[in-house]
Amino acid sequence: MDDVKMFRKRHRIRVYGTDIPNPFGSFDELESKYEFQSYICKNLKNFSYIKPTSIQMQAIPIMIHGRDLMAMAPTGSGKTLAYILPILYDLKGPEKMGYRSLIISPTRELAQQIYREIKKMSIGKKFKICMLTKATAATQAQAPQLREKFDILISTPLRLVHAIQEENIELKNVRHLILDEADKLLELGFLEQTDEIFAACSNMKLQKSLFSATLPSGVEALANNFMKDPIRVIVGLRNA
Ligand code: ADP
Ligand code: MG
Repeated sequence: MDDVKMFRKRHRIRVYGTDIPNPFGSFDELESKYEFQSYICKNLKNFSYIKPTSIQMQAIPIMIHGRDLMAMAPTGSGKTLAYILPILYDLKGPEKMGYRSLIISPTRELAQQIYREIKKMSIGKKFKICMLTKATAATQAQAPQLREKFDILISTPLRLVHAIQEENIELKNVRHLILDEADKLLELGFLEQTDEIFAACSNMKLQKSLFSATLPSGVEALANNFMKDPIRVIVGLRNA
């Protein structure tokens, strides 16, 4: 068995798919091997993130290689950082071209947590992050030029679909689409919202990722139907 297989086994990482990038083992490697911007690594240190979790070890290299990803790992295993870090890495810095990353969260509470985590990890770069609410949607409806100032959008599905329908939002430059807690999203009827959301994210280079704590068949179907040659990563025990 080669080193990579051993490493994955030791960290309870299972992978399925083609041309799967190798996992990484320490946050220092992000800077030395992947040339992550030093502000990101500084923030990791300042917030005492010493060592990546298993899902971070495998999901981050997959995302920075631009691959579609279906990631399953238990609650509390650090899935948020697993997609925030590659997003920040790829966005490089703030721009005035409108939303380039879109994170969909089942609830407003989770969206707020994600917002706070991105704020922490982006200290040192002036990214503009929007959490879509009734109030922010109304502001952006009144002042469309405001939308161009933002880089990252976090929203619940219903709020997002509403903004798309009202033409209060522009998603054609979105490069990263993240579905967080995909299992919960599906429970809340996400399938009915996918058509409109995916149609609005019209960028040819759209990368799709989904994160989930459990793997009901609907999550697999979502990956199969909407992703291109996705890599599946499963962390934890086989029957857990
Ligand atoms: P999940 O989305 O998988 O349920 P979260 O992303 O919410 O998990 O992370 C759970 C907790 O673990 C958070 O408090 C987060 O700050 C912390 N955490 C994430 N990554 C690491 C890490 N590499 N080292 C230490 N703590 C971490
Ligand atoms: Mg989470």
